[in-house]
Amino acid sequence: MPKKRENRGRRKGDKGHVTYVTCDNCGKRVPEDKAVCVTKMYSPVDPALASELEKKGAIIARYPVTKCYCINCAIFMGIIKIRAEDERKQKAPLR
Ligand SMILES: [Zn+2]
Repeated sequence: MPKKRENRGRRKGDKGHVTYVTCDNCGKRVPEDKAVCVTKMYSPVDPALASELEKKGAIIARYPVTKCYCINCAIFMGIIKIRAEDERKQKAPLR
């Protein structure tokens, strides 16, 4: 049977079962190894105000926030891109 992707769109390997995570955008349940997770630094202070305060020497706290998305949302938000058929079969990571 022809394969669309080298790793079937996941990084599970021969593991039997993986836990599920919830997409932070649409709420869909996706397997942990298929979900696209991105970590961004988040600051509770408004960015314009934060840059002004940092110029004056204040230290603004930033916290890492990890969000996991399903494939549909990750493509819609531009985190990952649609790749050509021959490019998909290369042994490259998902992102
Ligand atoms: Zn989603």
